Amino acid sequence: MAKDVEKYVKKLKQKAIRMTSQRYAILEYLAVDGNHPTANEVYEYLKDDFPNMSVATVYNNLNFFKDAGIVNELSFGEDSSRFDLTETQHYHAICKYCGKVIDFNYPKLETVENDIEELTNFKVDAHEFKVMGICEDCQEKVMSNE
Ligand code: ZN
Ligand code: MN
Repeated sequence: MAKDVEKYVKKLKQKAIRMTSQRYAILEYLAVDGNHPTANEVYEYLKDDFPNMSVATVYNNLNFFKDAGIVNELSFGEDSSRFDLTETQHYHAICKYCGKVIDFNYPKLETVENDIEELTNFKVDAHEFKVMGICEDCQEKVMSNE
């Protein structure tokens, strides 16, 4: 199952952003379920279809989507950031063996924001939360090797 690309295309059109076949292809790749690619991964995936495209072009387009509010830039403690096609606040569980990223929601974290506003008198407008561990598939592999 993939995210609905057309929904995001419509969003870009509302902002009068020009749609190119390259931008569309990047969106499609970002919409694949579970994908949180780096700019380099997007480039590797699309370079054969778009021989004139460079990593810099990909990076510019990703930043463009970010400014348009449909992509989040994430830091998972690696050298390059990862990009997430989303409009909603959600969190990530990252497998330390295979690098798989699972999205999850946890509405109780809104309570945490409210509590922190009271404690600090901040107006909180964002937070990050990620969980590291071993995914289900890798747990099975680890166990069958024992
Ligand atoms: Zn895994
Ligand atoms: Mn995500």
